[in-house]
Amino acid sequence: MKKLLLGIATTFLLLAALLLVRTATYTAPPLAEVAIQKRTIDGRPIAQHLSEAIQFRTVSSQLPEPQTQSQFEAFIGWLAKTYPEVHSAMAPARLGIDPEHRYTLLFTWPGKRADLAPILLSAHYDVVPVIPGTERDWQHPPYEGAIDDTHIWGRGALDDKSAAIALMEATTLLLAQGFQPERTVYLSLTSDEETGGDSGTAAVVEKLKQDGVQLAWSLDEGSFLLRGFIPGVDATVASINVAEKGYMTVDLVARGQGGHSSMPPQETAVDILAKALTNLRQSPLPSGLEGLSGDMFDSIAPYMPFGKKMLFANRWLFGSLIDSALSTQPGTAAMLHTTIAPTMLSGSVKDNVLPIEAVATINLRVHPRDSIEGIVKHLNAAIDDERVEVKVRRADTASRVSSTESVGFNNIAEAAQQTYGPLVIAPGLTVAGTDSRRYETVADDSYRFNPMVVTKEDTHGFHGTNERISIENMVHATNFYSLLIEKSSRE
Ligand SMILES: [Zn+2]
Repeated sequence: MKKLLLGIATTFLLLAALLLVRTATYTAPPLAEVAIQKRTIDGRPIAQHLSEAIQFRTVSSQLPEPQTQSQFEAFIGWLAKTYPEVHSAMAPARLGIDPEHRYTLLFTWPGKRADLAPILLSAHYDVVPVIPGTERDWQHPPYEGAIDDTHIWGRGALDDKSAAIALMEATTLLLAQGFQPERTVYLSLTSDEETGGDSGTAAVVEKLKQDGVQLAWSLDEGSFLLRGFIPGVDATVASINVAEKGYMTVDLVARGQGGHSSMPPQETAVDILAKALTNLRQSPLPSGLEGLSGDMFDSIAPYMPFGKKMLFANRWLFGSLIDSALSTQPGTAAMLHTTIAPTMLSGSVKDNVLPIEAVATINLRVHPRDSIEGIVKHLNAAIDDERVEVKVRRADTASRVSSTESVGFNNIAEAAQQTYGPLVIAPGLTVAGTDSRRYETVADDSYRFNPMVVTKEDTHGFHGTNERISIENMVHATNFYSLLIEKSSRE
């Protein structure tokens, strides 16, 4: 008995020692000390330009809204007037697969050397609608472009007119200095990102293909500089996203007997569908911290407080504990697996008629580890009812995972550090869709990153109410893009 107790105690002590040693050696490299490089940039005129840009209602809506076309036209006219130097140095091509909607602009800044692969920097200037009835919840009307002491307010302030304006400001600055890139730089201001980029962004890619262009890399919207998102991590995290999830929509069609609602059978089509949805909820797709999601947390976890660091340093033991903790938060859960979200429901056409078919539309965001076939198999197995058909309406797998070792990735990280000071650089996964998934067909690598700091509070503005960006962020973003273009055109 004594021996057994001694054995248990020794094992326990060895385990504790192992955990501590692993935690102690799981140290964060000191944040890189990169010399700050700041241009003198006046924030006021930039804020004024963004304010004016917000006032154009360049709304991308799934519903046909012909009246917004004039807003896109007006925005393009305003842009030419506001940035005459950029327009005369590189007259933009107006592009669109749909000839009625040629509102996407592709600027070409020719490089001195034809042997260097070009790069592309992109932002979209279309915005999502303001949900009717929520206008009154805004502190400043959504299309007024109000500027207060610190912020510019309105739809598009974060997503993504701010990046479009900062790109124009940075280019104007460089042109004023007589800067000429070594390699060709493309600037793409797209007009239909919020509806999938079928016309504008697709036309940019089409044009590059026609011209035989293969980009070294592309940079488009994605994650931001995150402050205060991860409890216990004080440093600002630059999440430079190297992949994005795929997009899949399926209909679950449940069939039952129709008839008069006064004599319902034991199970109607709605009951069958409800059961299918409940079964699905109870069988999520596999989740886990391997691959890209693991790399992201490995970059950030060493900066966490001791207790949390110990968990991440010993994933072999605490893996499932970490997974279940991360799965409780929608933001982190989405990084770990393919999400399943029922979004639309339909049944009978009349209140006293039993439906013959009840349909639930499910939107899934596909993790890089999952295949479409695998997901369909999972859905059928989880529902486990022959009366329910899984009809795939749209299915795109996740994007490629771009390199974190490339010159492009390093340049983006360095320009961010030269602008903001020491940062935790972490590769990440964009959980929504962006134009990058189209760019990746003509680019060796595609990065997704906006050079602005956001806090948790700011995130409510994305596609929501009270969207705003600080004037300081606009100055920093302009500085970032100018540094990035300068250094990337050389290397
Ligand atoms: Zn966006």
